[in-house]
Amino acid sequence: MSRKKQFKAESKRLLDLMINSIYTHKEIFLRELISNASDAIDKLYYQALQNGDHSISRDDLKIELAVNKDDRTITLTDNGIGMSKEELEENLGTIARSGSLAFKENMDAKEQPDDDVDIIGQFGVGFYSAFMVAHKVQVFSRKYNEDAAYCWASDASDGYTIDEVEMPERGTKIVLYLKENTDDENYDEYLESYELERLIKKYSDYIRYPIRMEMEVSVKKEGSEDEYETKKEIRTLNSMVPLWKRNKKDITTEEYNEFYKNKFNDFADPQKVIHTSVEGAVSFQALLFIPSKTPFNFYSQDYEKGLQLYSRSVFIMDKASELIPEYFRFVRGLVDSQDLSLNISREMLQHDRQLKVIASRVEKKIKSELLNMLKNDREEYEKFWNNFGLQLKYGVYNDYGMHKEVLQDLLMFYSSSEQKLVTLDEYVSRMKEGQEAIYFISGENIDKIDKLPQCELVKDKGYEILYLTDNVDEFALQVMMNYQEKPFKNINQGDLNLESEEEKKEIESKAEENKGLLEDLKDVLKDKVNDVKISSRLKTHPVCLTSDEGMSFEMEKVLSNMPD
Ligand code: ADP
Ligand code: MG
Repeated sequence: MSRKKQFKAESKRLLDLMINSIYTHKEIFLRELISNASDAIDKLYYQALQNGDHSISRDDLKIELAVNKDDRTITLTDNGIGMSKEELEENLGTIARSGSLAFKENMDAKEQPDDDVDIIGQFGVGFYSAFMVAHKVQVFSRKYNEDAAYCWASDASDGYTIDEVEMPERGTKIVLYLKENTDDENYDEYLESYELERLIKKYSDYIRYPIRMEMEVSVKKEGSEDEYETKKEIRTLNSMVPLWKRNKKDITTEEYNEFYKNKFNDFADPQKVIHTSVEGAVSFQALLFIPSKTPFNFYSQDYEKGLQLYSRSVFIMDKASELIPEYFRFVRGLVDSQDLSLNISREMLQHDRQLKVIASRVEKKIKSELLNMLKNDREEYEKFWNNFGLQLKYGVYNDYGMHKEVLQDLLMFYSSSEQKLVTLDEYVSRMKEGQEAIYFISGENIDKIDKLPQCELVKDKGYEILYLTDNVDEFALQVMMNYQEKPFKNINQGDLNLESEEEKKEIESKAEENKGLLEDLKDVLKDKVNDVKISSRLKTHPVCLTSDEGMSFEMEKVLSNMPD
């Protein structure tokens, strides 16, 4: 027997949480283990394809479930990729995995939507959920192309052991030793094959490999009309139709939500589901989700964009980044196409013509869905904008404005006259007669901008001003240059040309009268300013600072604050 090892600190915390969970949906442990088994088979199949290993046939891949009432055990076996000794240690001894990690982050942030929301059941918490129903767990595993097999075992309380064992076949077998019933908790129900069947149908129906179990079924006795006998029969419990292959109108919101949360490790329902099927030169299905919250690492280096890629419902890879443009990187989901080679590798993706067609259709679809949302459900769109608008503005600015056509109609800015977020199209449709430009001004926040002297005259003329508060805003407008042929104009910069001929004359004569004063001021401020002018920009304020055409104050500020 090998020496006991202790769990890492975070793992221990999560484990304690699982063991002591008074969580009512303990049943999700099965969904978690099945989804791991399915992932392991995906990985094996892809690996075999890559290796040109013909000994593995898709028809042999399966997940098996068995119960033993005497021992009070449930056994789940898959013939997937398996785990080496190191992997058992790494994967089951520590929390480094996505789902568990997201869970932990969320617990740390203490930002559960409401306290009572059953957060554990809302998304994948992974392998450790087994300890909600089992007092002891054994994981036997033999890795693909290896002879040695190992058993990881733990009763959660004080660490785990790993021992070498014999295993005739590749894959993983997990044995759960169920807890004893208590006054409040019933674990015996998981020993009933009908209960397990119900759980598989509820949570794991779409799993693409057969989940098999020996069931007791009652059948008519041979040669008899009304006499039944009990027989044992191996049944496949899941329909194996992936969710995205099913007809949209037969899928409930709940099913989409569960699928999303489990597959993409989110704890909240998605804000929007986009399910589409395209037939044509390249045929494919896409099932896409817009999260309802900004992922905690969204604006960091760790965030990896991309969609899952399937070919003929065979999993090819995770996070295929070629499928989604940078500015829509918040979209999660998958694409399944019958027109892609099963042998496609990550390197080939960049050059694959079919894939480019798919990516472009996916982009168009996302854009049109967002425009629909903007048109039909303003409140939802603003929620979306608050989560991901910044990304769209960066999208306009990046690549020298190459994507402005795609993105410009999706942008929103705060309006001085409407006192809310407006689109550029709305701005232009409200433009006054004779108004030549789309006016904007930048600043720290709406309140501060609103008090700027520069705004007064423009407002007085009845013109709407866009108040820009994000660093990227002005850069984005600058690369766009114009919208619907109306140029953007910073009201803090250069000449606004808002004066009538009469007003211009008046300014000229005032400048003439006060020539001496202006010269003196220029003299005193000569190291600080370029020029001192009489201005029609001001109404109730005595002075303001403006800049010449070119770089504005705000842009200079942003650039000088940038790390080198
Ligand atoms: P996640 O599935 O989100 O990665 P889990 O806690 O469910 O997190 O699983 C942790 C890791 O353990 C998996 O990423 C996988 O590498 C490994 N694992 C779990 N179950 C199996 C299995 N049946 N076969 C092979 N590897 C597995
Ligand atoms: Mg998992």
